[in-house]
Amino acid sequence: MNSTKDLRIRFVGAGNMAASLIGGLLNKGLTASQISASDPGLAQRDYIKDTFRIMVHEDNNAHFGMPDIVVLAVKPQVMKQVLADVKASILTNEPLVISVAAGITTAQIERWLSPQLSVVRTMPNTPALIGQGAIGMFANEQVKDAQKRMTEQIMDAVGTSVWLSKESQVDAVTALSGSGPAYFFMFMEHLQAAAEQLGLTAEDAALLTKKTAVGAALLAERSDESLATLRERVTSPNGTTAAALDAFARQHVDEVINQAVQAANERSVTLS
Ligand code: NAD
Repeated sequence: MNSTKDLRIRFVGAGNMAASLIGGLLNKGLTASQISASDPGLAQRDYIKDTFRIMVHEDNNAHFGMPDIVVLAVKPQVMKQVLADVKASILTNEPLVISVAAGITTAQIERWLSPQLSVVRTMPNTPALIGQGAIGMFANEQVKDAQKRMTEQIMDAVGTSVWLSKESQVDAVTALSGSGPAYFFMFMEHLQAAAEQLGLTAEDAALLTKKTAVGAALLAERSDESLATLRERVTSPNGTTAAALDAFARQHVDEVINQAVQAANERSVTLS
């Protein structure tokens, strides 16, 4: 990460998502002295200090300095109050502001800070906690190309990211990758239960379910073939897979999935 060796990054909120990003950034070559954070939680501060050896402050404005990037990693419901608290510090040198908070729009952040600020809104998901996130990002008009590259490098530390051309697409990303891990967990739960009904032990069913999910996901990621082609490859006419896929089709699983994702999208629109 050569271009980021002089970067100064400040995290406001040092919970799970901040910890993932901080860990990822240190793994990518940033030094602990480049990163600082603030969080009112003593246990959280101790954890971050002990794990990453970065400076962590109780007060959001303490030793704020002149960071190039401020990452807003607090819960959405406290964002307005937190921004009122750090507004003066942020406006001192107008850093790039990156928010990971679900449902908080760039317009809200501009309203609570300043319309002149460069603001990136991101939508990560829980696999970001193990460096395997799928992240959608939207930049307001003030964000310069160099700031976009910096944002990409930060998000690369916890997963794979895509730029969105319209902020409304954040709702679609929320419905796809934000909520998506739960869809796969649910499918895996039912698969495991079905395998137990067929006589496998709970332990074997759980192990084989997880390994099948990971194997299929890695195969899909590493292959140039479409998902449909990969599916067809394991489906011989009149074979076992065909029998299962026919059962899914009789229940119109495509419509069920479409309705579920639409429902998540609508809920995301309502909440933001
Ligand atoms: P978290 O509860 O682990 O972290 C939030 C931290 O903010 C806590 O440590 C808390 O002590 C701190 N905090 C509370 N009040 C504060 C204040 N006034 N000033 C500074 N810090 C304060 O939550 P998280 O999972 O890390 O989520 C953080 C943000 O990331 C949320 O807005 C959430 O929507 C977003 N997000 C998280 C995930 C995920 O996988 N965890 C996925 C997508 C989006």
